[in-house]
Amino acid sequence: MTGSIHSYRLGSIDFTLQDIKTDKDGLRARLIKAKEDQRYPLCLCHTPYPSVVIVQAGQDVHLRGFPNLGHLHKLNCDHYRPDPSKSGAGQYEKAIQIKPNGYVDYKLSFPLSIKVGESASEDEPRARSGTDTKKRGVIGLLGLLHDWWARAELDHYSPALVIRRQWDLDWDNDVAPALAQEIATTAFGSRSAEQVVYIAHRPRKSKSTISDDQSREKENLWALFRNRLATKSEEQPQGIIVGRVDSINDARFGGRIKVVGLKDNLWLDTSGLNRIRRSFPTEIAVLDRLAPHKPDLLNAINALSKGDPKPINQVKASWPGEVIGIFLVKETAKGLLQIQRAGLMATSRNFIPVDSTYELEVAHALVSEKRRFMKPLRYEAGTSIPFADFILLDTPHEVYMEIYGITDDMGYEARKREKRNEYKAAGVECWEWTPSESKTWPPFPPSKWAKQSEIC
Ligand SMILES: [Zn+2]
Repeated sequence: MTGSIHSYRLGSIDFTLQDIKTDKDGLRARLIKAKEDQRYPLCLCHTPYPSVVIVQAGQDVHLRGFPNLGHLHKLNCDHYRPDPSKSGAGQYEKAIQIKPNGYVDYKLSFPLSIKVGESASEDEPRARSGTDTKKRGVIGLLGLLHDWWARAELDHYSPALVIRRQWDLDWDNDVAPALAQEIATTAFGSRSAEQVVYIAHRPRKSKSTISDDQSREKENLWALFRNRLATKSEEQPQGIIVGRVDSINDARFGGRIKVVGLKDNLWLDTSGLNRIRRSFPTEIAVLDRLAPHKPDLLNAINALSKGDPKPINQVKASWPGEVIGIFLVKETAKGLLQIQRAGLMATSRNFIPVDSTYELEVAHALVSEKRRFMKPLRYEAGTSIPFADFILLDTPHEVYMEIYGITDDMGYEARKREKRNEYKAAGVECWEWTPSESKTWPPFPPSKWAKQSEIC
C-alpha cells in the first residue's frame, strides 16, 4: 500500500481490492450480480461516500470512479480526479449524456455513413491555437479517444493499483480490454458503438489452448467490422479503428499508416497526410524515437519465448513511448481502407498520455519514482488553453506540474505563467521545469507516503 484507501461497501459487506482479487466469500459473483441490478458500491475514502462503477472484464472485476465525479473522492483515494474544468472534459456537457441504462451517449461531430462517392468534410483534428473554451455540442475523434481513456482511468498512474501497463505488450492484455469495456457501454444515438468500432490488438498471450480460440474470435470481429463497411445501395458506412500506430509513411498517392495487430494498411490522400503531420508533431517525434527500438523488441520477444526474460526487461526500461491512433475509415471501390479523419495521442510506455517529448521524460521519471499522478487530457481544446501538464496526487495537496517547453509561441507561455500565478494566488502548489534553462528537471515534491512505501 502507498497510503491509498481501498475499502468499499456493497449493502452490508465491506471489502477491499485484495478481497476481489482473492474472490473472498464469492465476492466477484456478488459484484457481477450487483452490476446487473445496477447497484453501485460505495468508496469509503470519506463521507459522504461516493459511488463507484463495477466493471467486468472476462473473469476479472474492477471498480472505477464515476467519470467527472472524481473530485468527490478524497485526494489520497485512487478514484480522486480534479473537477472536469481542469481538463478538456469540461467542454462537452451537451455532447456527452449518460442514459438511464448506464450507456454513455455521444453526439459525434462526424457522420457514421455518407452518400456514396461523397467525402466526409474534414477539419483540423486539433485546434492549433485559440483559447476557445465554449461548450461543444458535438465531440470529434480525438475527444472521443480522450474520453474513453479518462473513463477507463488510463489517464492516471498509481503504483498501488497499476500492476498492469508496464510495457508494450500490455496494450493487448490490459489497455485494449479496458477500452473495450468502455466501448461496450458507449452509444452513438440509437447505435451501439460496438457495431462501428474495432480495437486493433493481437490475441492475448496465453499458454493454454484457448489462444487459438481467441485468435479465431479476433479474426471474426475483424471480418464483421469489414462486412459492415460494405456499401449498402446509396449509403457508404464508415467505421472507427483504435490502435497502436506502428508507422506513418509516404505512399504513391498519399500516405500509409500501419497499425499494430491490424493486417490491413490504412490509406490516406496527400492532404490528409499533411494534416496529420501538421497537427501531431509530438506523435510524429515519438514514432521517430520508436523506430530504432523495434528490432530489439522482436529479438527480446523471441528470447522470452525461449525462457530468457533478460532482453525484454532491457527493452522495457528504454522503450520510448507509444502513439495511439483513432481513425474514421471507409472502404474504397477497390476494397482498401481509406482514412477520412484521424486523431493521434502520444503516451508514455505505461500508456499515460503526453503532449510533448518533455512530458514524456517527466512521465517516465514519475513512474520510476513510484509516484501517483494524472494527466489532464486536452480533448479538442485549442493548444493555447493552459491545462496543468500533470497533477501529482500523492502529496498533502494537489501539486500542478508545469513544463515550459514551447518556445515558439510566446502568447502561450504568457498565458501559462498567468495561470500559474492564479494557482499560486489560490494557494495551489506548483512544480515547474523550463527545459531551455535547465536540461534536468528539479526534484519532484516529496510524496506524503514516501515512508510507508519504503516499508512495502
Ligand atoms: Zn474514494
